[in-house]
Amino acid sequence: MTGTAMNYNGINHRSKHLMKKVQDTDTDCVTTTVQNQACHAGHCHNTTTYIHGCDTYDGDDECDNLTVHYNVHNTTGWRNTTCDLHACTDFLNDDDCANANLTFNSCTNGDCRSGITTIHGCFDSSYAINHLGVADGLDDFFDIPCINLLFDTFYGRHFGNSKKYDQQSVASFSSKKLCCEGRACMKCEKCRDWCYAGDLETWKWIRNHKNWEAADRKRWMSENVWKRFKHRDGSTCTCFHGYRDDCFEWELESTRNTIGRFFTDILTELTSDRTRTLNRYDATDGGYAFLNTTTHSFYFFCKENHLKAMYVIQFCTILLIYIVTQSLAAPYKISNGCGYDSCNPGKPDQINVHIVAHTHDDVGWLKTVDQYYYGSHGEITRKGVQYILDSVIQALVDNPDRRFIYVEIAFFWRWWNQQPEDIRNTVKKLVNEGRLEFISGGWSMIDEAATHYNSIIDQHSLGAEFLNDTFGECARPKIGWQIDPFGHSREVASLFAQMGFDGYFFGRADYHDILGRSAERTREMVWQATADLDPQNWLFTGILPLYYFGPPTFCYDITCNDPPIVDDKNVHDYNVPERVEAFIGASLAQAEIYATNHIMMTMGGDFYNQNALEDFKNLDKLIYYVNLQQANGSGVNIFYSTPSCYLYALNKVGKKWPTKTDDFFPYASTPFVYWTGYFTSRPALKRYERYANNILQVTRQLNGFSQSNLRNIIFDLSEAMGLAQHHDAVSGTSKQHVADDYAQRLSDGIDRATDVINDAYAELLPKDSRSTPIPHQFLCPYSNISACLPIEGQKQFTVTLWNPTIHPVTVHHHVPVTGQYLIYDPNGNLIPAEYLSIPDTIKNIPGRMSSAQNQYVFRASLPALGYNTYYFEAKTDTNKIKHKEAITTTNEACILQNEYLRVVFNDQGNLKHIVNLAKNLTVSFTGQGFYWYIGYAEGKTTPFSPASGAYIFRPLHPEAFPVSLVAHYCISKNTNRNCTKTDTVQKASIVYNNWTSQEFSLYRNASAVEIEWIVGPIPIDDNIGKEIIIRYNTDIKSEKKYYTDANGRQVLERIRDYRPTWHHVPDDLVSSNYYPINSRIWIQDQDRQFTILTDRSQGGGSIYDGSIEIMVHRRLLHDDSMGVKEALNETAYGKGLVVSGKHILLFDRPSDSARLHRTGAQQLFMHPLATYSLPNTSSHTNYSNMFRQSWSALSDAMPLNVHLLTFDQLAPKQYRVRVEHYFELHEDEFYSKSVTIDLQTLFKSIGTINDMTELILTANLPSSELHRLQWNIKDQESSHTNMFRKLYFH
Ligand SMILES: [Zn+2]
Repeated sequence: MTGTAMNYNGINHRSKHLMKKVQDTDTDCVTTTVQNQACHAGHCHNTTTYIHGCDTYDGDDECDNLTVHYNVHNTTGWRNTTCDLHACTDFLNDDDCANANLTFNSCTNGDCRSGITTIHGCFDSSYAINHLGVADGLDDFFDIPCINLLFDTFYGRHFGNSKKYDQQSVASFSSKKLCCEGRACMKCEKCRDWCYAGDLETWKWIRNHKNWEAADRKRWMSENVWKRFKHRDGSTCTCFHGYRDDCFEWELESTRNTIGRFFTDILTELTSDRTRTLNRYDATDGGYAFLNTTTHSFYFFCKENHLKAMYVIQFCTILLIYIVTQSLAAPYKISNGCGYDSCNPGKPDQINVHIVAHTHDDVGWLKTVDQYYYGSHGEITRKGVQYILDSVIQALVDNPDRRFIYVEIAFFWRWWNQQPEDIRNTVKKLVNEGRLEFISGGWSMIDEAATHYNSIIDQHSLGAEFLNDTFGECARPKIGWQIDPFGHSREVASLFAQMGFDGYFFGRADYHDILGRSAERTREMVWQATADLDPQNWLFTGILPLYYFGPPTFCYDITCNDPPIVDDKNVHDYNVPERVEAFIGASLAQAEIYATNHIMMTMGGDFYNQNALEDFKNLDKLIYYVNLQQANGSGVNIFYSTPSCYLYALNKVGKKWPTKTDDFFPYASTPFVYWTGYFTSRPALKRYERYANNILQVTRQLNGFSQSNLRNIIFDLSEAMGLAQHHDAVSGTSKQHVADDYAQRLSDGIDRATDVINDAYAELLPKDSRSTPIPHQFLCPYSNISACLPIEGQKQFTVTLWNPTIHPVTVHHHVPVTGQYLIYDPNGNLIPAEYLSIPDTIKNIPGRMSSAQNQYVFRASLPALGYNTYYFEAKTDTNKIKHKEAITTTNEACILQNEYLRVVFNDQGNLKHIVNLAKNLTVSFTGQGFYWYIGYAEGKTTPFSPASGAYIFRPLHPEAFPVSLVAHYCISKNTNRNCTKTDTVQKASIVYNNWTSQEFSLYRNASAVEIEWIVGPIPIDDNIGKEIIIRYNTDIKSEKKYYTDANGRQVLERIRDYRPTWHHVPDDLVSSNYYPINSRIWIQDQDRQFTILTDRSQGGGSIYDGSIEIMVHRRLLHDDSMGVKEALNETAYGKGLVVSGKHILLFDRPSDSARLHRTGAQQLFMHPLATYSLPNTSSHTNYSNMFRQSWSALSDAMPLNVHLLTFDQLAPKQYRVRVEHYFELHEDEFYSKSVTIDLQTLFKSIGTINDMTELILTANLPSSELHRLQWNIKDQESSHTNMFRKLYFH
């Protein structure tokens, strides 16, 4: 049906709208008549409805665009309605429950409403539907005929032939009526008809699934019971929604029960005044004919204000100081009157719509950062950031009213470097006039789950430095802008406050949280993001209305198909009145869910504005025509603005804002869809990023202390680290070739940093300037697989260990060798070292090229902020002596013990106890080891029913399977359990199979147990893949509580199946309880605390009392449909990627644990850096005559609770230094206290400090010049401030 007039019942209906829409969508148009009876409270009315609907399929059967024009006749006459919908539906495992995200614009007789709605509905046995969740916050749900239509669609699909529902299946998606028994398959819309075809006894057992125990579930798996479900004879359904090959009926039931409880709990929370019975649902009120005799109950979900004080978490200060050892004015520039002064304040009696034109430019995701910049690889996507910036600048020049924000400095910096002087001057003018504003201003838009605070600060400082140097104060970002990341960290908010930001906006939060906040108008709040620092460090935080997009049908980007503003009245498609009405409707709808008469509309999206003239031309017109309606009393005032101007307007309102103290993890976009997989995705990249940071910090220190002034060379590594913090980089959610590009950039940066390291050691090593040549220092990046090729077979080599902390440390260094050596310490003494064989599990790692079979392990006590060199000299035949043999036992019970700890294993090799000898504490373990989850991979993956993938962790079952059960993967007939003891170290290793092993090490004098785990290649012969965890089951009475860190800094209390700010009823029992673990997780009871430190960011939680589990590796064959369109299937050397890593186990009293985990975590991310050299020296004596073997930058010891976070030489005699009190308030009786240090101590080797300026965290403003906006918080919450106590750093 294309463009023809339609006759229906004698009504000739034809309109321009209809013509146009029909031409737009030519494939699936339906015209239907519905005779209906609508009843309410016993009063019934006959109605006739005429519908014309067209839907387009966007490649996904479950997401549809739908345009419907319909004409409703009832007792009061005809009403014409148009509806534009975009709806995605998901039906979980089960037709009975569904989610829909719906954006809509609906006009009835000129009354238009726009918004977004998240719907979760379940059909119960009486076919009632409960619609929960009205994200648009409209107080009259029923004025939105589109929504009725959508719900009607659900009915049409589900109960097309139901006698209880006698409406024809008229809705969008099909004009056919079902003719089968049973319910319809959602995919093929045919009958869903499976039946059980096994024996009766088994059937009885299945029916008893509610009482199943673990053994029953194993039976279900092992006996393939699901295969006894067969198609009925003559079945027409070929898809498996609801039933699949391995789908459990009990699981479906339990899902349904969970959802049922979910509703019940929510409904009991609803207060009566919030519950709306459908008084307005009255057929006499106009044509809501779609709703018929079926009982409909609509509820507005409202949440009680559940803000509760979390466990009081105290925190420490980072002090940033710009130090000049010669007097020099600081290069900080003065404002030109940009910023808040340039803001349009809006009109007090109007809804003020701040139009924020923007673009979201990922610095790598589907393409690499360079490919995105240049727009290359158009076969992936035709996006090019250089064109965006070219185009936006021209558009801003064309009209001084226009404003634009830009975020990702990695791109802007590339573009700036290519601009001629006249363009640069133009851009400077735009910045100074506030027309181009930099927001956030980091090198990238960071991920918040997998990033470490050290690198977050660095990457924001990198962008801030460029902006400050290039534009001055007008370009200083004042807003945190995290519109795309998938969960938000309290530590990031705290850091943002310390960076001088006045506000923070983001796009994604848990759908349930969003619903409540929309209803309560609390999408904006004051985040009390630190319990350690005073309210000066809180941050105003807002959740954007539609992620970061504009309202539906108002996208003017070249990639969109929304109608432009056609404002020539002589043109047939003249649409100004309709567009203006629609926009005013959208504005009013949005204003309903925000607290003031100011709202922000983000007009942009991913890589929008490649042709900014098109975007801006239409926005210009929209603003003009919408504002014309003020004369007619529209009440809507719309203008170009920026997030900071919007924030300033909110600040001026003088309102008291609600508060928040917890964080926004984990993020669920819909029920069962938890974005917790990326906490672990790409574990090797996550480790490499942390390792690269270690090298970056050491390189900066060496550059600074040697006064090499080579900061420009370190820039490459700084830049690569800035990119790596992006929310598709270290998060592990990019395509494989992009992940490879991030790693390559880090590697290239490390190579250049090595040049700086060499220059620095050339200054520090020689005892006098005649000492030449200086031995070239090199890294051994493969030392994590016990390989260092350049030293193999060498007669002599040195290992120099730089300790980047300001405290002396002791480490046990491993050196893989192909021969035997004498090892000299810095004092010329031969040191005792263990000579151990390298485990087969390491030697078998694919790609290892080393021929080293053995390794030396020696104890190195390093000076604070300095180095020791150890000299290795090959033993000659005459002095070759037999090493003291390590004592190794196999497959027996094993006990490791040193001065502090005893670690006991049973004869099966399983960890039994850890005993803290000094404190006389014991923790018992059961079943410690590797487990795996089956990833969900059923049916077609959609955003509402995704497979487990790069972003999403969605286990098929809540139970993890022990790796030892995967018997057919075992190759070794000998179960490999070895117990090895030497003077220096005792080890217990277990090889489970050819893809999992772990080795416990207890070193002499160590207060921690180390576990080195190796996982991979993960088998994928199940065609799904696996998600591997290490689980530690203890007897600690943790009572649902566990503690995880935020970005390596603050620690937050977690409670299983609980959210502090809304009523959470768990759907996914595992994934919903996963949190990011950047550096540590612990559980505790009154006397005992068991803490695990990690060497990289991982995901994990406590799924059972007393248990901690950490996901270490994932290999998955299905994409989770969240955009990357690639399965997370990392390979190397033709096999699945093998990953190794460390967990450090600490066991002590809770009161004594902070000093262990704070110092331990610090030493993990600021580990001594080993460089090797091949000196051309004949003997150790010869070497020691020429070179210093030990050196420290410090003259005095520094307090243990102070950390040197940054030591960066900016120019000769100028340094940027960050020192940090890194204990939280109250966590340690002694070390949580404030502390005094003398900064001159750090500069002993450099000179005397002449001048010093304290700066904000990003180093782009003196602290004394920072004046952040002040916010009022609600009175009833002000008591929260009691727990915040300022921790002074003298
Ligand atoms: Zn993004």
